[in-house]
Amino acid sequence: MKDIVPSPPAIVRNDVAAIKGLFSKNVMPTYGRFDIVLSHGVGSWLWDTAGKRYLDFGGGIAVSALGHAHPAITEALVEQSRKLVHTSNLYFHEAQGRLAEKLVNAIGSGKVFFSNSGGEANEGLFKLARKFGHDEGRFEILTAQNSFHGRTLAGISATGQDKVKKGFEPMVPGFRHVPFNDVEAMRNAISPATVAILIECVQGEGGITVATPEYLLGLRQLCDERKLLLLLDSVQDGHFRTGRCQAFQRIFENVPSGENFLPDGVSMAKSLGAGFPIGAFWARQPFADLLGAGSHGTTYGGGPLACAVALKVFEVIEREKLADNARLIGELLKSELLRLSREYPQVVKTARGVGLMIGLELAPGISAFSGTEKSHAVQFVSRLHEAGMLAIPSGTHVIRFLPPLNLHRDEAEKGITIVESIVRSLV
Ligand code: PLP
Repeated sequence: MKDIVPSPPAIVRNDVAAIKGLFSKNVMPTYGRFDIVLSHGVGSWLWDTAGKRYLDFGGGIAVSALGHAHPAITEALVEQSRKLVHTSNLYFHEAQGRLAEKLVNAIGSGKVFFSNSGGEANEGLFKLARKFGHDEGRFEILTAQNSFHGRTLAGISATGQDKVKKGFEPMVPGFRHVPFNDVEAMRNAISPATVAILIECVQGEGGITVATPEYLLGLRQLCDERKLLLLLDSVQDGHFRTGRCQAFQRIFENVPSGENFLPDGVSMAKSLGAGFPIGAFWARQPFADLLGAGSHGTTYGGGPLACAVALKVFEVIEREKLADNARLIGELLKSELLRLSREYPQVVKTARGVGLMIGLELAPGISAFSGTEKSHAVQFVSRLHEAGMLAIPSGTHVIRFLPPLNLHRDEAEKGITIVESIVRSLV
């Protein structure tokens, strides 16, 4: 498996030790990386530099919506890059306008701002909320315990997990965290300074916990009563991963009182670009014009290349009915994982999630995992790697499965076979 990187410097040549050496010498050690050096991918499969194949159930953390090396993405990239790669936001270009229109049509009447990542999309929501409450001196945003909202300074301040804040105090003021799926806790936490509530519909980094429709309806009512913005961080659960464009739309399916539900703001990234970096936030009317000229901006956000790819991703998802696929294959995976929890309760506690955003919770105290500092989740994922499958640990005991939205049925079955083999080996 040589020569994957085009004309690499002689030292690299896809040699594992050389590549890792480049990292340890030159790349900041901010990530606890697994011992895998990836080379290339096709569809739901990835190869490392030694030629070992992995079934990708991690999707680059919920990003690779169309799998790897999708020809439509390659084509969009090549075609757009021949015309116009970058403009800045001093000028108009068609792709940004068209992508905004797609998102408005998919979410609701409002407007969109484009960024380059999920963290930046959330920064936009924070600024929207601050602008909204500014003249009344309100600035505080309530978020949920166990939430995750990105690694910017405001993002870690908003995140309801201490581990991301450690060493970076003092936090940006104006964020407090309350228990998830608990409307009363949120009601009790509101202060005269509160201006918004921000939650994930499906907590991703927090271990795949789905908001109930009652919770979302309760928050909507609370926000209306107390003049607060209801903001959804759909960076991980958005863009058809749950089987609908937005997770709240999926949660409200078949809930009669939910059909008119709309949040006031939604942040997006990840599957939106299916691997090409792009983020966005949508704001409902009448808040969509709150951030006027000069109040917010980015050099790259919404560039022609990113928007052309995101438009193509939208087109493929719609044409190939990938929302339906996410729902169907997601159900299959979840029901099989639940079967494992019934057959091997000493290893698998439960499975939960919606669409292709699924968490497998391991039982505590698996004896084969004792005697090391590494969490159960990390050790389980390492065994998956050995068996040729990628997945993402979430917290200490949850494994996240966030595969491409076009995962085939036989690939899903193959994934279950691998997971089951690991589970069996731990009994
Ligand atoms: N919000 C949520 C819910 C996320 O899961 C993430 C990333 O995992 C982010 C925000 C941050 O996105 P990014 O890493 O693109 O900045």
